[in-house]
Amino acid sequence: MSTTANEHVLRERIVMHGRSLFERGLAAGSSGNISVRLDDGWLLTPTDSCLGQLDPARLSKLDWGGRLVSGDAPSKEAFLHRVIYGERVSANAIVHLHSTYSAAVSCMDGLDPANCLPPLTAYFVIKVGRLPLVSYHRPGDVALAEAIRKIARTHAALLLANHGPIVSGVSLEAAIYATEELEETAKLFLLLRGAPVRALTEAQIADLQSVFNLKH
Ligand code: ZN
Repeated sequence: MSTTANEHVLRERIVMHGRSLFERGLAAGSSGNISVRLDDGWLLTPTDSCLGQLDPARLSKLDWGGRLVSGDAPSKEAFLHRVIYGERVSANAIVHLHSTYSAAVSCMDGLDPANCLPPLTAYFVIKVGRLPLVSYHRPGDVALAEAIRKIARTHAALLLANHGPIVSGVSLEAAIYATEELEETAKLFLLLRGAPVRALTEAQIADLQSVFNLKH
């Protein structure tokens, strides 16, 4: 597949997945952003755009210096994506949402900053792995990029405190599905609050990591 054809397909897939996330209530208003790596830069959803109404021709195309090559002005959260691509050569797509259940967990006190959610299901372990918490920063604060840089190399999924998840994947679909698994696990975690919970054991997690060759 040529670079041009690949970029065309990726633009259409960003629009399709954005609409799906919006229609299922995972990206309200103009919140959330999606990016993909290209051979000659990267694509990102524009600033103040609604994921339910993206135009493939108006997606922001950026170079690795963060400069706009074509399309509308990029999301103000572009720097979060850029720092993760810089740290994770395996990342070909990144999804960031303010989805309700993950955002609710990100506001809870007393979370383990090394791993915010317990390993409730095998699918969470397989698709997300450990989920560190990144401390609160106001929107646009470049110090957030530095906080992310420190842990992005060893974690595909991060939870930004009082904000929401940001998840990278080897493909757009992998990043989307991992973000959705994270959201569902956050929902389970909140549903189970106050109930005695049996999370997966260390041995069960080690078994999954071995059988599925996990490298989060
Ligand atoms: Zn955000």
